[in-house]
Amino acid sequence: MMTMKTDYETQQQYLKIREDHEREQKRRTDELREHIKEYDDLCFKRSELYAQAMKAGFDGNIEHKTELLEQVAGLDFRETEILREQKLPADWLSLHYSCSKCRDRGYLPDGSRCVCLDKMIREASVANYTMQGPESVFSDYDLSLFSDTPAKNGISHRDRAKKRCDLFEKFCTSYEQYCAGGSIKCENYLFFGKPGTGKTFLSSCIANRLSEAEVPFIYISAPKLVELIFEDIRGSREGTSMKQLKEIPLLILDDLGTESSSEFVTKQITELISERLQHDCWNIISSNLNMNDIRKTYPERLASRLTESFIPVIFEGPDLRTIIHRKKLEGTKQHPPDQTSGK
Ligand SMILES: [Zn+2]
Repeated sequence: MMTMKTDYETQQQYLKIREDHEREQKRRTDELREHIKEYDDLCFKRSELYAQAMKAGFDGNIEHKTELLEQVAGLDFRETEILREQKLPADWLSLHYSCSKCRDRGYLPDGSRCVCLDKMIREASVANYTMQGPESVFSDYDLSLFSDTPAKNGISHRDRAKKRCDLFEKFCTSYEQYCAGGSIKCENYLFFGKPGTGKTFLSSCIANRLSEAEVPFIYISAPKLVELIFEDIRGSREGTSMKQLKEIPLLILDDLGTESSSEFVTKQITELISERLQHDCWNIISSNLNMNDIRKTYPERLASRLTESFIPVIFEGPDLRTIIHRKKLEGTKQHPPDQTSGK
């Protein structure tokens, strides 16, 4: 499995990109000086004029400084002429960037992440999805599994399921736009509901769709997260680390509450969610627990974070697995196994 870059590794990677470009710029300049005597003299003269202009500035002789800088500008102009004469591109002697938006720093002047940084994380993290996850896609969303009888509020489970499906297809589009550099506010959803009401199925549809779009995200179940917490402490993990879970722009955490819990684990999970919210990362968490159970199981801080920053999505209805099983049995009755299985 590919390993996602840690922040330190990412910084080192950008530093290397910048150093490579600086080395290349120096090589181009040296080469031109070596071949064109006039250009070599020009460079020598220019650095002399710069030094004199700086001295004039220190001495407070602004008029003289301006004069000297005008001479520098003249040499700069001659430099562009030399490049033209040599049939070289106008930016031949400039410092080049792999990403001109952030000048190979990963962050823009306003502190926001550059698209090239997201791309770097994406390339390193797409494979993280293979950590686990059932193969479900939005087109498999079988609405006929949900009852179309209106509930007390007048809306049927089927209508609600359809709305959820549409909402999270839109969520995927928003997140893809965010990854492409769009300034979209992060969204956090908390899936509540009894086991078998379709939470994991929907999470998995989202994960598959984003995996196809090759945007960075991590999908992990709470029991796997606990394994990761301990492996991370022992330093025995080669793949995803807690640091990466804190930094990945979207985390889909499935089945919160099914992990074997301890005070240490619940603190770690609370810390993870709090840090992600602080850094405006996107989150989808699903849980079989209701808010009261969450309050009993986790530190109060987690319950307040979930209440304040997450939009609740309620999954209702009977256990879909029973319905699917029943449908399969009915299907078998209509098509006896000896006709369909070929055995
Ligand atoms: Zn960039």
